[in-house]
Amino acid sequence: MISKHNKVVILGGGIAGLSAGFKLVLDGIPVEIIEAEDEVGGLARTIEYKGFYFDLGGHRFFTEDKEIMDFVKGIMKDNLLHLKRKSEIWFNNHYLKYPLEIMDLFQKIEAKRFFKYVKDYLLRGSSKYHPLTFRDWVVGEFGEALYNDYFGPYTKKFWGIEPTEISADWARERIPLIRATDLLVDKFFSSHRSFIKHFYFPKRGIGEIARRIAREIEKRGGKIICGGRVKEVVIENNRIIAVLSNKGYIEGDFFISTLPITELVRFINNNEIISRSTQSINFRSLIILNILIKGENINNNQWIYFPNPNILFHRIQMPFNWSSLMVPEGKSSLSLEIACKKGDNIYNLSTQDIFDRCISDLKDIGFDIRDRVEDYFIVKVPWAYPIYKLGYEKSLNTIMGYLNNFTNLILCGRSGLFKYNNLDQSIRMGLEVGKYLLGKR
Ligand SMILES: Cc1cc2nc3c(=O)[nH]c(=O)nc-3n(C[C@H](O)[C@H](O)[C@H](O)COP(=O)(O)OP(=O)(O)OC[C@H]3O[C@@H](n4cnc5c(N)ncnc54)[C@H](O)[C@@H]3O)c2cc1C
Repeated sequence: MISKHNKVVILGGGIAGLSAGFKLVLDGIPVEIIEAEDEVGGLARTIEYKGFYFDLGGHRFFTEDKEIMDFVKGIMKDNLLHLKRKSEIWFNNHYLKYPLEIMDLFQKIEAKRFFKYVKDYLLRGSSKYHPLTFRDWVVGEFGEALYNDYFGPYTKKFWGIEPTEISADWARERIPLIRATDLLVDKFFSSHRSFIKHFYFPKRGIGEIARRIAREIEKRGGKIICGGRVKEVVIENNRIIAVLSNKGYIEGDFFISTLPITELVRFINNNEIISRSTQSINFRSLIILNILIKGENINNNQWIYFPNPNILFHRIQMPFNWSSLMVPEGKSSLSLEIACKKGDNIYNLSTQDIFDRCISDLKDIGFDIRDRVEDYFIVKVPWAYPIYKLGYEKSLNTIMGYLNNFTNLILCGRSGLFKYNNLDQSIRMGLEVGKYLLGKR
C-alpha cells in the first residue's frame, strides 16, 4: 500500500492516466503525470483551431456504470449535452440509416438484394458453433450476404487485414453495439435496444472531460507535464526508479503506465524474445483530416460510414451536429477519418495529397465543398486501435509476463493493456488502479 511519502509517476495524460491521478490526489498522494502531447486527453482530446473544435474522431460518451456516469456528470456539471444519435452508411450510392433498419433497407435497395439479406440472415445458424475469426462471427450473426456487401469490405478497409485474420474477440467485445436482432428486427419484434441511440457530449468537444479532470488534479497539488515524451525507463533491481523524457528525468516510487504497451517495452527492454513478441502486437493508426468550412452545415448526420474501398476515408464526422459550439457562427467543419498503418503509403502522404484525394472523394459522394474550404490540417494518431489479430494473445501474455517482473509498475488504459476500451472503461481502469494503490480494493 502507498503512503503520502510515496510519489506516483503516471505515464500518459489520457483519460485513464488522469482518472488514476485524480483518485490518488484525492487522498493526498503526490502525483506527477507526464504527457507527450501539448495537452491532456490522449485519444479523447479536442483540438482548438481558429475558433473551431475538433475531436480525434467523434467521441460519444455513454456508460451503464453508474459510478462513472456520476463521476463524469460531477466533473462536467451542466456542460453535457444529451444527444440522439444520427448516423448513416454510404452504401451502393444510397445513404442508409445506421443502425440499419429493415424498412429503410427495403425502401432504398433493390428488392433482389434485400431478400437475399433476409434469407441469409434467417439461414445463418449462429448458435451452432463458436467462431474464432471475425468473419465467422459476423456471418453467424448477420448472414453471408450482409457480410459480403458491408461488414467484410468495411472491416478490411478499417483494419487493413482480411476479416479471417481478425480474432472474433473484437466482434465479441463490440456485441452490445452490433446485435443482429437489433439490426434486422428491432423496430418490429424487439424492444431490446443494444445499439446506443442516445449519448452524452460536452458542449465544446470530448476533450473537455480530460481538461476538467486535469484542473481538479492540479488544484489538489498534482503536477501535469505536457509536451514531455518518455524515451527511456530506468530500472534497478526489478524496480523502475525513473523515466527519462524530453522534459527531464522524473523519479518516483510507483509508476502507472498508459503508454502503448509496445512503446513501454521498447523503452525498457533489450531482450530478444520480448522484442519479437512486440512485433506481433500491432496498432491500427489513423489520419484525421479536419476541414474548416465557410457557410452552413452540409449534412444532418453526426457521422457517416464509407465501406467502399475506393474512398480514402472510412468515416466522416460533422462536428456542428454534435454541438453548435464546435464551430464559429455561420461556419461548419468536417473531420475525415482515414485508417492506415504507421509508416505505410497512406500514413506518409503529404497533407496536400490527403486533402486533394479527400476533396475529390467528397465531390464523388455529393459534397462539392472545394470553394468553401477556409483552411485544413491533419492529425496523425499512430496508436489508435489495438488489432486483435489471430494469435495476438500469446505474444501479449509473453509481454505481460515480462512486465510483471517490475514490482512497482502497473499497466492501465486502452493502449497500456492492449484492450479495445471505450472512454468509460478507461476511466474505470484509472479509478481502479488508484484504489488498488490506496489499498481500497
Ligand atoms: C477515432 C476514435 C473514436 C473513438 N470513439 C469513442 C466513442 O465514441 N466513445 C467512447 O467511449 N470511446 C471512444 N474511443 C475510445 C477512447 O478514445 C479511448 O477508450 C480512451 O480515450 C482511451 O484512453 P486511455 O487513457 O486509456 O488511452 P490514451 O488516450 O491512448 O492515453 C495514452 C496517453 O499516453 C500518451 N503517450 C503516448 N506515448 C507517450 C510517451 N512516449 N510519453 C508520454 N506520453 C505518451 C498519449 O499521448 C496519450 O495521451 C474512440 C477512439 C478512437 C481512436
